[in-house]
Amino acid sequence: MSVELVPVLSRAEIEQKVKRLAERVCRDYDKEELVVLGILKGSFIFLADLVRELTIPVQIDFIRLASYGSETSSSGQIQITKGIELDIGDRHVLVVEDIVDSGLTIAYLLDYLKQFHPKSIKVCTFIDKTEHREVQIPVDYAGHVVEFGFVVGYGLDFDEKYRTLPAIYHLKQ
Ligand code: 5GP
Repeated sequence: MSVELVPVLSRAEIEQKVKRLAERVCRDYDKEELVVLGILKGSFIFLADLVRELTIPVQIDFIRLASYGSETSSSGQIQITKGIELDIGDRHVLVVEDIVDSGLTIAYLLDYLKQFHPKSIKVCTFIDKTEHREVQIPVDYAGHVVEFGFVVGYGLDFDEKYRTLPAIYHLKQ
């Protein structure tokens, strides 16, 4: 089967968007310390770029969620396969995601994190994909809105492929 990669965002455009997001985050937290919580695996490249643009004190942790569904969409049946390690009680938490699609993963995570009583929780995603949103969740920071399609690159994979591409593409089969 032939696959086509159609450019969505170049490396330079991504860089600009990450810088803008980081400026907003720094302004909003106004020197307060932040726990940046990345969702593995997709967010690790975006998170690495974002935190290096932040000028406020940050601590970093990761959580890994497995969601069972087809290769291109989540089923909403989510399991935590690696939990958080930092104590987020009474701390500001910024959840960093590669892409929000149905919103089910973030909805599950926000609910799960409540038991640790953080001071605040906000959501930062690089791509906000609006077509299949099933639950209303707060997307506090979004780098780029995509209405539909399946995107790869910049941490986003298809069957573990394309993750390391420095730009973002629509995958057309
Ligand atoms: P949600 O629970 O919001 O439907 O799904 C979030 C997860 O689904 C993302 O973290 C990502 O792993 C996967 N996903 C959703 N849409 C896309 C897409 O367009 N491209 C890729 N590579 N993954 C996607």
